[in-house]
Amino acid sequence: MSFSGWKKYIEVGDLVIVYMTKDNMTPIVITEDGDLNNRFGMISNNYKGFIYLLHPTPELWTLVLPHRTQILYIADISFITTYLDMKPGARVIESGTGSGSFSHSIARTIAPTGKLFSFEYHLERATLAKQEFQDHGLGDMIQLEHRDVCKNGFGLVDTVNAVFLDLPAPWEAIESAKAAFKQHRTGKICTFSPCIEQVARTVTALNDHEFVEITMYECLIRSHGVIPLHKIDFSEALEEAKLNALAGVTNTRKRKLLEGVEEETDADGLSTAVETLLVSKTPEEARGHTSYLTFATFLPAIQESVEMPLVTKETVVE
Ligand code: SAM
Repeated sequence: MSFSGWKKYIEVGDLVIVYMTKDNMTPIVITEDGDLNNRFGMISNNYKGFIYLLHPTPELWTLVLPHRTQILYIADISFITTYLDMKPGARVIESGTGSGSFSHSIARTIAPTGKLFSFEYHLERATLAKQEFQDHGLGDMIQLEHRDVCKNGFGLVDTVNAVFLDLPAPWEAIESAKAAFKQHRTGKICTFSPCIEQVARTVTALNDHEFVEITMYECLIRSHGVIPLHKIDFSEALEEAKLNALAGVTNTRKRKLLEGVEEETDADGLSTAVETLLVSKTPEEARGHTSYLTFATFLPAIQESVEMPLVTKETVVE
């Protein structure tokens, strides 16, 4: 099993994601006589309970991968992938590779004919990521280079459609990124920086190198809790409030429980006595800041107009 294709049966040597609960997953490689130890004990072929063995996907890998650095999570990954116009066949630069979280998603998006040029200047991280891509069947699609892209650039010219920079100083790599774009087409770049001061320096570099449509986003997750509410009119609500106050409780359900009144409910446990509405309740605050995403567009240089010879009367009259 690998990230580059699906198969029906699990075999020795396959990477699978062991799913025990949504917060308890772990990647393992299947071996002939292997045991899996976790907080429920040892799981082997005579284990009494059950677990799921899931086919690896980039989304699952992001949740279970060994962290060697901070990583990108799925909210930012999907946003960046879309805004960088990544699609099958695209040629993309990313730096740094880090723990390879984003690399797996990029590879799936640009497969089967695309190419990811991934750059990492930390030797151990570069070596481990390279081995992982190989083991996951992505070795041909991801070309990983151990290189300091701020000092030495990407070494690519007229090659890619999109560039993604998750670096402490992305502004130092903008000039080389510009040269790496396919020069006759528009291209997209995105930088991922936690501090606004980094964004300001990146925007200056993007402007200096004539990128256009410079726009910054922040991607926050807000969960929507859908809950049932009883629909009653104002006079009924007043009446209920009075009765609740007399009984010394804050809601009608508690009062009915105290009074021993059983509410008739439907299959979903909702009261059938009153009309119910499904409403979405959102928390006031969205979950914390990860980084600012700065996007910009590379435009091909306008071609010098070619001098056309003047057409004289003599040449058009045959
Ligand atoms: N996006 C990655 C992921 O989803 O797993 C995480 C990237 S991690 C936050 C940043 C990486 O950039 C680190 O591994 C670091 O070693 C690398 N890095 C920093 N400066 C670099 C440079 N000048 N050239 C290449 N890699 C660099």
